[in-house]
Amino acid sequence: MSKPSKRPHNDPRFVLHQQQPRANKLGAQQRRICQADPAFRKALEARVNDPRRFAAFLAGMPSYVRLSAPCDRCGGFRRRTRDRACYTCHLNRGRENFERMKAGLAPKVKQSRDGYLDMLDRQRREKNDEFIIKEFGRISVRWFPTGRLEVIYPDGYVEPDLSKVSGQRVWELMEMLPELKDALIWAGWY
Ligand SMILES: [Zn+2]
Repeated sequence: MSKPSKRPHNDPRFVLHQQQPRANKLGAQQRRICQADPAFRKALEARVNDPRRFAAFLAGMPSYVRLSAPCDRCGGFRRRTRDRACYTCHLNRGRENFERMKAGLAPKVKQSRDGYLDMLDRQRREKNDEFIIKEFGRISVRWFPTGRLEVIYPDGYVEPDLSKVSGQRVWELMEMLPELKDALIWAGWY
């Protein structure tokens, strides 16, 4: 006697992938399966309601624009491809993470309710050369109080602000330098 289950059923076609097409979290593993198995891609596409989100996912873009539903918190239109979270709020959380990490080094906890003044303070600190530097394999990144992420590549090239680089390009760079993904996870981007 089997109880009716509320979990989505598992399609036996995809058992070998050890992954079912689920739209709640779109990640690199599902993208790899999509590239290898058109049936999986079709099944996943049917579950992802927004075609722009699915296109961004296939192209490896971290965000896409959804004009019909601005964020309740910030009014932004850009969504994170992975889970549809607001991209601006997501980047802001990365900045808060910076504060938390920084707290261990300079325990000056500042509960600013005024976001604008807080940003001015971060900009001032950035001008004072305050940052966290960290090595990831062949690359080195510097994370600034404003959330700016500077990347120094193995050939010495310096990318001063990774947020200015297109999502497609960031994806290509991650394919060449997998450690860049670790850096982005560390900085709260991913
Ligand atoms: Zn938002």
